[in-house]
Amino acid sequence: MLSCPRCQATIEPTTIQCPRCQLTLKAHGHPGIPLHRAAGEEALCTTCRYDADNTCNFPHRPQAQTCTLYRSVHQPLSPDLPPLSPGDRFRLWLRSHGGVVALIGLLLVSLVLVLIR
Ligand code: SF4
Ligand SMILES: [Zn+2]
Repeated sequence: MLSCPRCQATIEPTTIQCPRCQLTLKAHGHPGIPLHRAAGEEALCTTCRYDADNTCNFPHRPQAQTCTLYRSVHQPLSPDLPPLSPGDRFRLWLRSHGGVVALIGLLLVSLVLVLIR
């Protein structure tokens, strides 16, 4: 059992809206989408991983008081997930640097063609 952050009423983990004070506890009316809420005046973004690594493009950043994607910088990154294999890491690197790799390949082919003439 949990308690409502505003009125302390006892609620279920899947409660979408507090039955006593009507505070929205889940996003989009879905019990599986948590709605993170700032505890005080300080915005959630100040302690959010996606603000820290500058990958968030939500319009309410950096002053979000509620957010569905908030991830604390103090939480470890998915400790239950296995680390990526070197092959997976190389594929990810290739996907994000595909243009540069293609350009270098083109330059090498051009160089070889010039040298064999
Ligand atoms: S994901 Fe939400 S809490 Fe995190 S930086 Fe973006 S808007 Fe702020
Ligand atoms: Zn409440």
